[in-house]
Amino acid sequence: MIEKRQGAVKHVTSHSNPIVKEIKGLVTQRKHRSQSGLFVAEGLKLATDALEAGWGVRYLALGPEARDNPVAQKAAATAKARGALILEASTAVMSAMTRKDNPQMVVGVYEQQLLGPRDIDPAGTTLWVALDRVRDPGNLGTIIRTVDAVGGAGVMLVGDCTDPFAVEAVRATMGSLFHVPLAKLTKDEFKALAGKWPGTVAATHLKGSVDYRSPDYAEPVLLVMGNEQKGLEDDMAAACSTLIRIPQVGQADSLNLAVATGVALYEIRRKHLEL
Ligand code: SAM
Repeated sequence: MIEKRQGAVKHVTSHSNPIVKEIKGLVTQRKHRSQSGLFVAEGLKLATDALEAGWGVRYLALGPEARDNPVAQKAAATAKARGALILEASTAVMSAMTRKDNPQMVVGVYEQQLLGPRDIDPAGTTLWVALDRVRDPGNLGTIIRTVDAVGGAGVMLVGDCTDPFAVEAVRATMGSLFHVPLAKLTKDEFKALAGKWPGTVAATHLKGSVDYRSPDYAEPVLLVMGNEQKGLEDDMAAACSTLIRIPQVGQADSLNLAVATGVALYEIRRKHLEL
């Protein structure tokens, strides 16, 4: 377990320090993340986003460059005031923690936030995206970032999905993880929610007969996306009111999941987005 000395500053010089090992475990192992309810986000921008959005912060590790950086010092002061343990570490220790040759100057350990099906209230929201068994952390992070960009209310992870708190997924969100609520649902929970959803439940599907540009998309919209390899499960598709397709020419079988989500989201939100 990580040492429970919080609201203090600690100098860390050894790779074998238990906190360094624990952070390394959070970076590399899903089991560690789910057992502790913690995760690692690298970089000063993500630290600033997390702190501004009020996420619980357990540790903030600062490399040597952070000591002269006023934004990093402010983040450290905020984190410390909220009870976090501040670690002042060498570049070698930052590298060991994150398993990277060029570590970021700030690495934070935050408390996970994940909603359940009963926490989702579609009333008054614009749209949610539901992902069926998303496997690729880069796709998941990119989708969370895009949902943030179009003003979506949140992302549902249905079935056995990749870990949204894996370092690669967190990195791909570019900070949107701290602004877009995430919910975890079983397939049955998703089907029950879709059955009573008050607005449009539209699934993107390669067999869809509706051009994605034609529906009216009454709000709140639930946009449902299939798995990267297998597409959307038949019973999940049956729970949706419309199967929409994005036209393609050329030889590609399908679009990348995150690209298809972005194309659909910008069409659904087109009338509501202005420069
Ligand atoms: N082999 C999979 C299949 O048969 O569905 C391809 C899955 S595709 C890489 C991942 C997801 O992106 C699909 O399940 C669908 O939700 C969406 N998608 C990709 N291209 C699409 C298109 N042209 N029209 C509608 N949805 C698309």
